[in-house]
Amino acid sequence: MLKSTPNKFVEQEYRIEEEALNASLFTTGNGYIGVRGSFEEYGSIRIQGAYIRGVIDEIIEVMEPFADNEYMKKYYIDEDKLKNFEYQDSVINNADFLLLRISIDGETFYPWEGKILSWERYLDMRRACLVRKVRWENSKGDVTDFWFERFASFDNDYIYCIKADITPINHNKNIKVVSGIDKRVKTGGQKVTSVIEESANGNELFLRMSMGKKYGYETGISAVSQIYPMQTEWKNENTDGIICSVAELNSEENKTMTVEKVIYIVSSREGDTKKANPCRERYEVYYKKHMKMYSNYFEAMDIKIEGDEKADAGVRFANYHSAISIARNDNIHSLSAKGLTGEKYNNFVWWDCEVYQLPIFIYTDPESAKKALMYRYDRLQKSKENAEKAGFKGAKYAFCSSVNGDEKVWEYARHPFMQIHINADIAWGIIHYYTVTGDIEFLKNYGMTMLIELCNYWKSRVEYENGKYVIKRVTGTDEHHPYVNNDAYTNYLVKFVLEKTSEYAKSFNIDADYTDISDNLYLPLEKSGMIPQFDGYFDLSRTLEEAGGSDATKFQMKSSGLYHKSQIIKQPDVMLLYSYLNIAPGNSNYAANWDYYEHMCESSSSLSFAPHSICSADNGRMLSAYNYLIETSYIDVYDIHKCGWQGVHSGCLVGAWYAVFRGIAGIVCRDKYIEINPHMMPWWNKVELKFKYKGYNFEISLSNEDFALKTDSSCDIAIHYQGKSINVNNQCPLQLNI
Ligand code: BGC
Repeated sequence: MLKSTPNKFVEQEYRIEEEALNASLFTTGNGYIGVRGSFEEYGSIRIQGAYIRGVIDEIIEVMEPFADNEYMKKYYIDEDKLKNFEYQDSVINNADFLLLRISIDGETFYPWEGKILSWERYLDMRRACLVRKVRWENSKGDVTDFWFERFASFDNDYIYCIKADITPINHNKNIKVVSGIDKRVKTGGQKVTSVIEESANGNELFLRMSMGKKYGYETGISAVSQIYPMQTEWKNENTDGIICSVAELNSEENKTMTVEKVIYIVSSREGDTKKANPCRERYEVYYKKHMKMYSNYFEAMDIKIEGDEKADAGVRFANYHSAISIARNDNIHSLSAKGLTGEKYNNFVWWDCEVYQLPIFIYTDPESAKKALMYRYDRLQKSKENAEKAGFKGAKYAFCSSVNGDEKVWEYARHPFMQIHINADIAWGIIHYYTVTGDIEFLKNYGMTMLIELCNYWKSRVEYENGKYVIKRVTGTDEHHPYVNNDAYTNYLVKFVLEKTSEYAKSFNIDADYTDISDNLYLPLEKSGMIPQFDGYFDLSRTLEEAGGSDATKFQMKSSGLYHKSQIIKQPDVMLLYSYLNIAPGNSNYAANWDYYEHMCESSSSLSFAPHSICSADNGRMLSAYNYLIETSYIDVYDIHKCGWQGVHSGCLVGAWYAVFRGIAGIVCRDKYIEINPHMMPWWNKVELKFKYKGYNFEISLSNEDFALKTDSSCDIAIHYQGKSINVNNQCPLQLNI
């Protein structure tokens, strides 16, 4: 397991069985491309991966075994559809451009050959670099030090740089360097790509590939290798699957030589693949530009926790993965459930995007958050067609969105088609973005159009029964209960969205009023203040009867349970109203609901941990808030769900920032004021974080004694601190100490 330190996550020895998991954790990326942490010398199949956002095509989806019990058969899987199901959209793996093999006197360095005398591999979160330092001895006793470093440029999406320092420790043997592009990569174990054009010219390689037949995307890759300080003569040795530049050099004991390889990779989704420009400058030049962009970017989302190294490191690690998950320069694709760290979940854009992933960017990088929403805007037309096909008005977005906006969800699984809450989630994302940024231009030009179409969908989807509007036959956020009526999360959020849209429409003089529905929509709430997750929820059994023998943990549930008969839920639904959305009704009983649903939740979706951390903090249960925060940040480092090798849980990791911001600092940004109700960890010394609200930059510092808030300019924002309204009187800069 990786060792956490404040700025680095370190692998202290090479363990072959952890290679696939660590490849996900050690992904380097810039939101445009994600490159898994496979080795330069050996990019094993299903460990190596280099994915460009939205470069997607069709593959044959190989099924995992399913839990075999009544629940699965009756409620989860449609057997006929399963048997007919074959192809699915997937992000496609690019050629392995990392390839860099170094031989000492004819023996190639591989971790499993010769002797590893020392090994340290780490992700440096402050530099977005993956580093490996190895002392290696070949069979002849020649000891050599290697220092590999690589990064995806934050300055230029298309540039990826690798550097390897080679220092002979006790010899001056011949060194051979093979720097190549390996075309023999697979996606989901299948060969999808094919070569269109390739060339090898000394130290410069070029490859253009087709990424599949359905969409016909291409990528172009150039790789330039150089060795310093010596003049090097490069030859080309191309085999069937690899094109490479090869150099042979004499070495000198204790004299370091440096191999630098700069890759330029561009896809036809945004550029001309024929123009994959060779990058001939030194590594350092690209590195400096990268660092300038990256350090500013990362600093804006960095949270400093004094007095708890584990939490400090964990949140930083999670933030690193958030930083590399978002495309900052275009809206061709959007945030996906595993970012670009693995093939699982196919690079689809889920509801995770607007509810879980967007907040950190709304508060720290609103420009990129806007791009994620524009991805939805570009799929509005398709969503209108989806609605029409389903017999409704307005726009119905795909639960799993890919290239065109048509539904890509696994067609054999019944429930995702019913997770129509996606149409409220996207609206929520728009409202949240506007509330925090005040970006009226966006709202006027794009947001309103989407909101109105989404509300038109809901208007046609609700049914009128006994004087109330109801929403029947849905799956809420909890996938263990696929067919329910009046799911709490859906109904409360739909009401909020209808209300807000009507309010915005009025202010723009647009004729769109949904208040009849929002005022009369049925909202589940019992006299006791408990919110039933859906109609009849509290009548179900509070225990989970188990049946069937399959290894269900592989399929997102902890046991082969008869979930339809039980109150056991997969992930939060009601509790999201309190924690992420902050729209729970005031007359409900927060503490009682939290106590209840915490015990009913199986947390077999990683989307549970961050909301649970917030609910615990709000209710003053700090140890529990802490444990959930650790689970959020370390979900993949500890491999809690045993599938980290398939890619990290982006939607969970991104919650670490929100759990501190919303849970511990207790910040909720409303339309016209900021609410602050901190719940500091008793054993932490200090928490520092930054966020943006209505164009102002805020800095917060929180300890067990003080709360300080400052802005960089004069500011007339109203603050409600623990229920008291504080007038900040345009102080410049604002400095509030409480
Ligand atoms: C969760 C969904 C989520 C998806 C992608 C599933 O396991 O239940 O809510 O959208 O994973 O993260």
